[in-house]
Amino acid sequence: MKELKILYLYPDILELYGDFGNIQVLKYRLEKRGIKTNITNYSIGDDAPNFNDYDLIFSGGGADQEQGILSEDLLKYKDNIQEAIKNGVFFLLICGSYQLFGKYYKGVEGNIIPGLEIFDYYTEAIEDRSKRCIGNIIIDTNLNGKNTKIIGFENHGGQTYNISTPLGNVLYGNGNKFGDNKEGFMLNNIIATYLHGPLLSKNPELSDYIIKYCLDRKYNENITLEPLNDDFENKCRKQLLDRFLTLN
Ligand code: GLN
Repeated sequence: MKELKILYLYPDILELYGDFGNIQVLKYRLEKRGIKTNITNYSIGDDAPNFNDYDLIFSGGGADQEQGILSEDLLKYKDNIQEAIKNGVFFLLICGSYQLFGKYYKGVEGNIIPGLEIFDYYTEAIEDRSKRCIGNIIIDTNLNGKNTKIIGFENHGGQTYNISTPLGNVLYGNGNKFGDNKEGFMLNNIIATYLHGPLLSKNPELSDYIIKYCLDRKYNENITLEPLNDDFENKCRKQLLDRFLTLN
């Protein structure tokens, strides 16, 4: 039986926006296909993980205060994380975690929270708390040559700059900053995005893109995933796409 090993970072701290749902979607879509899911949680005080021991690293979003709490702990693993990225381990990073893989996050109080500096982007929150990027968001991207719309919900004060390879083009919503036409960051085995929802619940194609990448890498195959019945997801997607794209 095939198995995927997932490391879930800071589930007790970065869980303000329901991003745990992404883990549940991955588990569901793997186990429906008879693939074992081995999920390890890591948070402050736990034994140091070796990021290379996993197929997929997941981390969610959180408020400025929580980002400040865990930044020092996360930075301890910079070298190991860089090694895992170089070795092809997949990283799925949502919002606050996305921000912390860049140079820094300047919080709404003006405090600088150091990032891992693995990527050159940086994020600065708008000091006017009423000005947050909040709402439904739709982007289009290319997954293995297939143009795909990704649907989510954004809620961030942080405005991210210096993105060289975005995840996608904004069709509805803000993106990396107010009124941006680009959203997220994608580079080989890294997907970092502002999309909550949880992200994968509304985007089965993206879920399977990540699953296929991880299985192909681990088992050195070009796996064809058994199709799942996504009728319900696709009905939801159609309703949202019709509602937000026809409005726009
Ligand atoms: N605290 C960060 C911001 O406001 C991240 C928010 C989030 O993870 N949704 O931009």
